[in-house]
Amino acid sequence: MKLSHRITHITGGGSDGWDVFYKARRMIADGVPVTELTIGEHDIRTHLDILNAMHAAAAGGHTGYAMVPGTHALRKSVAARIATRTGVPTTADNILITPGGQAALFAAHMAVCDPGDTAVYIDPYYATYPGTIRSAGAVPKPIVTTPETAFQPTAQALIDATTGATSLLINTPNNPTGVVYSQETLQAVADACIANDLWLISDEVYDTQVWEGTHISPRSLPGMADRTLVVGSMSKSHAMTGSRVGWICGPEDTISQIINLATHTTYGVAGFIQDAADFALNQGDSLEEEVAAPFRRRRALTMQALEGQNVVRAVPAQGAMYVMLDIRATGMDGEAFANALLDAEHIAVMPGESFGQAAAGHVRVAMTIADAQYVDALNRLIAFASAKAAE
Ligand code: PLP
Repeated sequence: MKLSHRITHITGGGSDGWDVFYKARRMIADGVPVTELTIGEHDIRTHLDILNAMHAAAAGGHTGYAMVPGTHALRKSVAARIATRTGVPTTADNILITPGGQAALFAAHMAVCDPGDTAVYIDPYYATYPGTIRSAGAVPKPIVTTPETAFQPTAQALIDATTGATSLLINTPNNPTGVVYSQETLQAVADACIANDLWLISDEVYDTQVWEGTHISPRSLPGMADRTLVVGSMSKSHAMTGSRVGWICGPEDTISQIINLATHTTYGVAGFIQDAADFALNQGDSLEEEVAAPFRRRRALTMQALEGQNVVRAVPAQGAMYVMLDIRATGMDGEAFANALLDAEHIAVMPGESFGQAAAGHVRVAMTIADAQYVDALNRLIAFASAKAAE
């Protein structure tokens, strides 16, 4: 039977750079011990207090259909968090609760793009971005950044690429690069959106993981609140990846339209999960800091491990749970290096090429294992790269 063009073209075809990841998974299944520094999953689980709140909510009967836009309590808590952190007046009516940030990314593109519209995103990018745009029927168009500008888009590139486009998707703090966009970059983003009359979709799921500088939500820049949809999530901030709870924050009338999409797709998020998320948000900053602390520590350990050599260089890792390493001095591309490292040292990292062409010659390391093991893996990676560079 024929399938729709939309469903058969989501991935865009071709090698997506995930071969190393699957090879590592096969080695593990065959009993080979592999140190995995691949995906963005914490090495801690959801805090027991959050799980207890979830259990209490479920046992108390919150297991039926929940309100599609989200419970009023959670929408209010998310709105308060955003208003406090960004200074932009925000109410429950500006918030739609979604099953994770990924569903929010899809709904945001569905809301603003018609089939065939151009949706711009920044390369390197989180792996699902082009497929999410295609799923919404739009045409993905990358802005390819460079290591020389720390993978931040330039004002000229933003203006050029967004001319005639409908939306621009950005992500700061950034996966995969760990870069936090500067005030200057975000102003250039805002200027391009205003000049070319675009929607901005701002993926801020790593907003609690900032090691250097400050996270600025572009919704807070002049003229942006009415044209920005912010994507947020409990996955990274509260180690709740499996709970599937996130949100879109945007203008009230736009949110009420996206609620229609939710009614006809997800039909909301489980009530007991929302109660647990609300409980977690009301624990204040300390719980978020506790969840972020291991990555802050390991980022410092990474910088120490890289000292005294210049074969492996880090892109300034200012936020998120990753560090992007420039391994071009080995003469290898990211994919060849990651494959050879997996074969020789049984260490799995993601080739930069998995995240677009801009990150070729780099590998992304997820700082998601215990400190001692992490430092050991990093030292072995550096020694391996140095040996390759000397060949
Ligand atoms: N955006 C970015 C940049 C991510 O890295 C991820 C997950 O890794 C997501 C969105 C989606 O997260 P979730 O759907 O778990 O909220």
